[in-house]
Amino acid sequence: MSASMPIDPDCRFVPGVMVPVINPQRCEAQGPCVAACPYGVLAIRVVPQDVRDTLPVLARVKLFLRGGKQAFAIDADACRGCGLCAQICPEKAIKLQTRSTNSHYGAE
Ligand code: SF4
Repeated sequence: MSASMPIDPDCRFVPGVMVPVINPQRCEAQGPCVAACPYGVLAIRVVPQDVRDTLPVLARVKLFLRGGKQAFAIDADACRGCGLCAQICPEKAIKLQTRSTNSHYGAE
């Protein structure tokens, strides 16, 4: 992190420190997180088949019923950790993690 890089007063971190992690078993692809993010980090996308294959049966059924979609961090590098997405998610499906501990935050 650069000492000269300004921190947005509405956010807690400079870009690249935090990332939103979406729980695929909770996300209902309603999308308020997409609208809430000031930096365009999130988008609703179709869940790749290899990810679907890792979900329990009930989660796969729920995913099918919502068109196979969920929220993804499509530009995780832009996240500033403000927490707006996690606050607005009605399913409590988003948690913030530091980049070093994150294991699932992107979509391809
Ligand atoms: S914490 Fe959520 S709302 Fe805030 S910048 Fe990161 S992805 Fe966007």
